[in-house]
Amino acid sequence: MVTAPMIQDLHHIGVAVKSLDEALPRWVDGFGLRLDVVEEVPTERVKVAILFAGRTRIELLEPTADDSPIAKFLTKRGEGVHHLAFKVDDTGAVIRVLTEHGAPMLDDAPRPGAHGTKCAFVHPKWLGGVLAEIVQDPEEAAR
Ligand code: ZN
Repeated sequence: MVTAPMIQDLHHIGVAVKSLDEALPRWVDGFGLRLDVVEEVPTERVKVAILFAGRTRIELLEPTADDSPIAKFLTKRGEGVHHLAFKVDDTGAVIRVLTEHGAPMLDDAPRPGAHGTKCAFVHPKWLGGVLAEIVQDPEEAAR
């Protein structure tokens, strides 16, 4: 069993938006965050805009299909903070440890996320309503 701290840092904050075209000017031009990239994650059926507030990464998530998890979230809860993502160096190992601790994992195995990452989600009922993501960066995996 892994006893060392598994979580290295906050990786990003995921925010659900109806439209990146509407949201981006406010976050970038108005609020002054730096836009890094906009990309599609077909497995999640979302378009992701990656922004930086200093070193803190914010991901705006726009659904690209009605059955996207983000589309369902928007219908149920409206726009707003969707999840907190935590940086780890081995998503597979962290999934095993969390499962040992009884965490209700939404993913039994790492899946591809934005920007070549490997990620997995923990059901929000485990952390008082907060949907948590664990993320492994591609460069970390190659090290
Ligand atoms: Zn995320």
